[in-house]
Amino acid sequence: MTGYIDMHCDTLAKGVLHHQKTITNVKGTMLDIERLERSHAAAQFFAMFFPQKNMPEWFGLAEMPEAETLTGLMYDVFQNTLKENRHRLGFAGSYEQMRENMLQNKISAYLTMENGFAVRGKMDNLKKFYDMGVRLITLTWNDPNCFGFPHSKNPSEMRRGLTEFGKEAVSFMNELGILIDVSHLSDGGFYDVAELSKKPFVASHSNCRALSPSTRNLTDEMIRKLAECGGVAGINLEPSFLNENLEDKKSRVCRMCDHAEHFIRVGGTECVGIGTDFDGIEGEFEIAECTGMELFFTEMHKRGISEDKVEKIAFTNVARVIKEVMG
Ligand SMILES: [Zn+2]
Repeated sequence: MTGYIDMHCDTLAKGVLHHQKTITNVKGTMLDIERLERSHAAAQFFAMFFPQKNMPEWFGLAEMPEAETLTGLMYDVFQNTLKENRHRLGFAGSYEQMRENMLQNKISAYLTMENGFAVRGKMDNLKKFYDMGVRLITLTWNDPNCFGFPHSKNPSEMRRGLTEFGKEAVSFMNELGILIDVSHLSDGGFYDVAELSKKPFVASHSNCRALSPSTRNLTDEMIRKLAECGGVAGINLEPSFLNENLEDKKSRVCRMCDHAEHFIRVGGTECVGIGTDFDGIEGEFEIAECTGMELFFTEMHKRGISEDKVEKIAFTNVARVIKEVMG
């Protein structure tokens, strides 16, 4: 296998929480660069996460900073980590850069942003973040922002679409080469992105709602739409996005495979990828850290999924989207 691409982790936030300058080696996390190297990862997306609510304890801070300040702290961890690991980790802002890193036996690090709040409704800020290296933005987290509205159990809230700014931003993100991520977004927002985006988009860390009723997951109709647009959904390890019973706090490999197989049945093999959500999830894990990802691939093989299909899920599908969107 070429190696896998993971579209989402919250390890930069954990780096800030543990007062680390880098995430080269951080105890108590599910992922760090040393373990990523042992995991045969080809590329890892690193999110700069902003929860919007007053949650300073999530970052080990006395009080909640402004979005820009918190983003800056995570950006520094990202940059310091790249510097410290030059021999095995390389920034990637495109498909070509990932290929170059692979030729040099380096893991590619993509910089992403979870919650577009810090964009503050200004196109100039999208350009600013692009120039900083951001190549994917998860439009919302669990609160409304300048792009749109979050997923919700309330049907009328769930139907709310993108804001006017959000709609225009879709075109500008297409133009810039920033991948649009609909995980956490309302269903209405999802369909707006599907209609307006001229490039494929992703649900970087979302599973199937038919198998696990969480509103963070995609309905079959959404899976078909995502596939039609050439997009990919990343299998998330969070128990409450995997299990039918939301009280079941165990994250099982067999359940990850159930979701992968459902995605394949509904949208085809080309719409499935990986978005572990490492360091952003809680429960009891069969894959408790990135070094365990092999268990997932082995189980897929055991189920009779061909080598070719597993390779697509692990690498090729997301690589295709990266190439089409970022160039
Ligand atoms: Zn998330």
